[in-house]
Amino acid sequence: MASPAESGFPAAPPHSQYEAAIPMRNSPEYRQDPLSGSWVILARARAERPTEFVAQPVRRRLEHCPFCAGNERFTPRAVATYPAAADSQADNHRWQVRVIPNKFPAVIESAPDIPDCGAAADRLAPLPGYGVHEVIVESREHTSSFSELSAEQARWSLLAYRDRLRCLANDSRLAYALLFKNCRGGGGATLEHTHSQIVGTSLTPAVVQRELQAAAEFHDRHRDCIFCRMVRSELDQAVRLVASTARFVAFCPFASRFPYEVWMLPREHAARYEDASLGDLDELSALLQLVLRSLEKNFSQVPYNYWIHTSPFDSAPFDYYHWHIELIPRITSQAGFEFGTGCFMNPVAPEDAASTIRVTGI
Ligand SMILES: [Zn+2]
Ligand SMILES: [Zn+2]
Repeated sequence: MASPAESGFPAAPPHSQYEAAIPMRNSPEYRQDPLSGSWVILARARAERPTEFVAQPVRRRLEHCPFCAGNERFTPRAVATYPAAADSQADNHRWQVRVIPNKFPAVIESAPDIPDCGAAADRLAPLPGYGVHEVIVESREHTSSFSELSAEQARWSLLAYRDRLRCLANDSRLAYALLFKNCRGGGGATLEHTHSQIVGTSLTPAVVQRELQAAAEFHDRHRDCIFCRMVRSELDQAVRLVASTARFVAFCPFASRFPYEVWMLPREHAARYEDASLGDLDELSALLQLVLRSLEKNFSQVPYNYWIHTSPFDSAPFDYYHWHIELIPRITSQAGFEFGTGCFMNPVAPEDAASTIRVTGI
């Protein structure tokens, strides 16, 4: 074989120079999320610890799963089914997706009125837990992941998310609703049967308020939506891109808090998930399934969470806030450092994560 010099290629530099040519490859690196202000430490060397990537699937299958078709009597009556039932016997027809009140709600709909404490109300005084908590059962068959749904069930599910958000937005006592999924035991699911939840609250969560504030400040400075800019930048650079379609983009964010964290956004500016069209939901459901299948191909039975960040209910359609889905595979766990500092240690750079799970040829 010809030496590098003979072949016309420069000789490989000495080892130390080679390391310097790839900055931060193995050194820790700080990155800040422009939205939350949170810091992330990309600590790649920590990935070498062998236990870091052992996902422990936890099966919690019950003998009589209350979410399986035929067991509707074990749950409260449905508030909506997809496709819609022709009559009031919604639970008896061949539903594909079913929305029910949560049997063990985190908030209650019949909370007493908030007492009038005046302007100097003690912030430590408890507020009554008014809210709405519903479950979206995403399949009549017993499956554990959104990736295993039929394309039709996936579309119905995303439509159900939209309809429930629209419905809760009409309740003037609610300020916000978070749609989220806990998948598999390690993702916090108490039942294996694939489902999502929606919790409507009388307060806008602090995480969303921080995003809104950062996005508003960015807009004041740059007359641009920070999310639209992020979409353009990720498409241009393509180093953290996971997948893209005509209307959506999926990428590992620059300051990923977790290994293989993925965000999905509409390419066009859109402040509210509730305004998504049926065409949007068709495309998004396919994209979400592809991304999840790619994750599960690399990490079998991986537990995960995703949630939708959309605008608060009482807001006009902002030109600076852009709805999005955040997806977190539960490969590593948070521990004392994260809880104590609000700063995350991520052993996998988002550029490396994206190249591993990238989906091409959509
Ligand atoms: Zn089931
Ligand atoms: Zn935007």
